[in-house]
Amino acid sequence: MCGLAGIYSHKPVAAELYDSLIHLQHRGQDAAGITTYKNHMHKTKGMGLVRDIFTEKKIKHLKGNIGIAHTRYPTHGGFGHGEIQPFWTSVPYGIALAHNGNLTNYKELAKNITSNESRYLNTNSDTEVLLHFFADLLHYKNQHLNDKEFFDRLCSALEKIYEHIQGAYSVVALIIGKGLVAFRDPQGIRPLVKGIRSNGNGGHDYIIASENTMFYHLGFEPEGNVLPGELIYISEQGKVFSKRLAKKSFNPCIFEYVYFARPDATLNDVSVYRARLRMGQNLAERWKKTYPDKIPDIIIPAPSTANTAALSMATALGVRYSEGLYKNPFIGRTFIMPGQKVRKKSLSYKLTPQVTEIAGKKAMIVDDSIVRGNTSREIVRMLRDFGATEVYFAVACPPVQSPCFYGVDIPTRAELIASNKTMDEIKQYLEVDLLLYQEIEDLAEAVMRKGDHHIDRPCMACFDKHYITSEMNNEKIQELEMMRINDRNSY
Ligand code: SF4
Repeated sequence: MCGLAGIYSHKPVAAELYDSLIHLQHRGQDAAGITTYKNHMHKTKGMGLVRDIFTEKKIKHLKGNIGIAHTRYPTHGGFGHGEIQPFWTSVPYGIALAHNGNLTNYKELAKNITSNESRYLNTNSDTEVLLHFFADLLHYKNQHLNDKEFFDRLCSALEKIYEHIQGAYSVVALIIGKGLVAFRDPQGIRPLVKGIRSNGNGGHDYIIASENTMFYHLGFEPEGNVLPGELIYISEQGKVFSKRLAKKSFNPCIFEYVYFARPDATLNDVSVYRARLRMGQNLAERWKKTYPDKIPDIIIPAPSTANTAALSMATALGVRYSEGLYKNPFIGRTFIMPGQKVRKKSLSYKLTPQVTEIAGKKAMIVDDSIVRGNTSREIVRMLRDFGATEVYFAVACPPVQSPCFYGVDIPTRAELIASNKTMDEIKQYLEVDLLLYQEIEDLAEAVMRKGDHHIDRPCMACFDKHYITSEMNNEKIQELEMMRINDRNSY
C-alpha cells in the first residue's frame, strides 16, 4: 500500500512532488521520500506524515525539473528508515526508483542478485531487489546512447523484467542524464495514471502517479493510464516514447475501488466514486431480496470510506442516510497503522456516536469491508450503547478470506475473520441482528458496469482465493504468509 508520483516539468518539481504526496497520503502514512535531479541527485526522506517530513527549507534543496516521490505503508520488508523509497543506485548512470506493489518471487530474485550478480542488498525490501535487477539490465559498456537507442535498451530490460519478475509492480524511476521512466506489471494490478499540461512554450510537462488526485491542483489533464505491461520513457529533452511489451489479461485490484483509493480518483478509466455508488445500489438490491421485511430506520456509514456506498444504498432502500458516527479527522485510518495494539486503541478516539441519531432506531451500518472484525464489533457495540433497538450490518464487498500478496495490507489467514468463522459465527461475533455481504459478481459488476475501461476481470483474490499470477500455488502462499509474519515480528 503505497503511493508514487514522477514529474517531468519545465520548472522545479520538488514543491509539486510534495503536493502530489499530500494527495496520495491516504495510500501510506508510514514514511515518504522525494528524489530530484539537477547535476546530481537530491534526496529527502523521513518517517511519518508527508507534512511533517518536508519543510520549506528541505523542499528548496531538492533541485531540478525531474523527480520522483513515494509515500509508504509497508507490506513487504521492514519498517525502518532504510526501507523508505525512492531507493537509488549509482551504477549505471545513477538510478532512483519508487515502486507500489509486491514481488511474489522476491526470495529467488534476492538470492540471484546477491549470489550471481555480486550486489549487496542493504534491506529486505523488494523495491531494492527490483532496482538492482533493473540496473543490471541497463548496465552495458557503451552508455552513450541517443534517446531512441536508450529507449530500445529500456525495452530489452523490461522484456526481461516481465519474463522474470512476478507479482504486482507499478514503478517510476529517475535516470541521471536520461529522464523519467515508468512501467506497470503485465496484469496491471496496481494503478498508474498519466497526466499532461502545456508548459506555455509549445511543449508539455508530464506526471505519472498512482492516482490522479493531484492533477486538478497541479493543472494536469488526465491522459489515461500506463497500460498493463507498458513502458513509458520521457527523455531529458521531453521526448516521449512508449511501448506495450507484455500483454496478458488486465486484472487491476478491485480493493482499490472498495477501500483504498480516494473517491475522487479515476483508475483504469473507472471512477472510484461511481463504483462505490454502484456497490451501494447492488447491495440494496441484494438486501431487498434477502430481508424483504427488514428495512432499517436509518443507514449509518462506518466513516468515511463507506460513505458513498451507504448513501446510494439508503437512496435505493428509501431510508434516511445518517452520519450517526462522527469521525475525528485528525486520527489516521486504523487499517493502515502497523501493529494491532495501535489499531485497537485508536478507534475510541476516532468515532463518536450521536445519540439523537441512534436512540430508539433500527440502525443499519454499512462498511466497505470487514477484515479482522474487531473494528466492526466495536462499532456495533457503540450503536447498542447509544440505544439502537436493532443493528443490521451490510458490507460493500464479499468476505475477505485470503491475504493480499500484491501490495495491500490484508495480512494472514489467521487474522481474517472470514477465513476462520462461518457466516453465523461472524454474525454472533459482531453481535448484529442481521448481516449481509456483497456477492462477488455484484462487486465486479459495480466496478465494470460503466466507464470506457478495458478490464478483463479485476483481481479479487482476497475474496475468491483466485490469485491471478501463475506462480501462486499453496506452497507459495504459505511462504509469503510466513515472510509477512517475520516482517511484522521484526517491527
Ligand atoms: Fe487487490 Fe485483493 Fe487482489 Fe490484493 S488480492 S490485489 S487487495 S483484489
